[in-house]
Amino acid sequence: MNLADYNEVKKILENNGFSFKKSLGQNFITDSSICPMMAESCVDDTVGVIEIGPGAGVLTRELAKRAKKVVSIELDERLKNVLRYTLAEFDNVKVIFDDVMKIDLNRLIKDEFNDCKKVNVCANLPYYITSPIIMGLLEAKLPIDSITVMVQKEAADRLCAKIGSRDAGAVTVAVNYYSTTEKLFDVPRTSFYPSPKVDSSVIRLNITDKPPISVSDERKFFLLVKACFAQRRKTFLNTVSNTLSIDKEHLKKCLSEVGQPETVRGETLDMETLAKLSEIVFK
Ligand code: SAM
Repeated sequence: MNLADYNEVKKILENNGFSFKKSLGQNFITDSSICPMMAESCVDDTVGVIEIGPGAGVLTRELAKRAKKVVSIELDERLKNVLRYTLAEFDNVKVIFDDVMKIDLNRLIKDEFNDCKKVNVCANLPYYITSPIIMGLLEAKLPIDSITVMVQKEAADRLCAKIGSRDAGAVTVAVNYYSTTEKLFDVPRTSFYPSPKVDSSVIRLNITDKPPISVSDERKFFLLVKACFAQRRKTFLNTVSNTLSIDKEHLKKCLSEVGQPETVRGETLDMETLAKLSEIVFK
């Protein structure tokens, strides 16, 4: 079975009365080199894999060939019969029909991957919820080693950007707090059916044991980070005082304490300075 061959997958989908839903980010891979490359890069026969959004199972099959166990989470129950057929030959795959945003993944890992040396996430993500999924995976502090995902190219550029650079956003800081990032390869829009309006990239987040900076209150740190990026091109003073209703005179003193000018823009600050500021801004 070659699910990257669109004629083959089309027949299977038609036989099961399936039609694509744009609202669920359903663009299936139809390039036979991509899924083997993704699976090969993050899986071996000791590894357990969580896949998000198996679709017709094109990546799932490549993961199942290489991993000890695969648990795939798919929201669209209309794919039940399709996946039953395309994954029939594998006894190391379980498909859970649910919303990945609602599942307790810590519980799932405890229940499903006891006999695996480590657990990785590998997925071609639905693009309408890329950031919430990635942030959900990171903030849940799951016992996983890495997250290998295909995302929209612009999202990949943002996630892998250098903090303080033009491409960076609040999500860049968050991702760098929990992991180191690398871009693996680009994927043109022509590698999918239906073809999306944007190109994609495969990126890897390697989860780190501890963050590169230390903060006494993570919630406050991320509150400040979000405020810094809330109004781009405005000064730190304006965007933070507007967003968090904090007195400007107090913020001026905080900036001076960390050696920054009053004119500095929030999105240009590095992680260490943001950490120091989060310790004094909320006092
Ligand atoms: N893995 C397949 C591939 O590479 O061809 C399909 C990838 S497609 C970009 C995204 C998949 O995620 C779709 O199958 C869609 O139904 C599923 N999906 C969308 N939202 C989801 C959610 N909240 N939880 C789980 N799966 C979701």
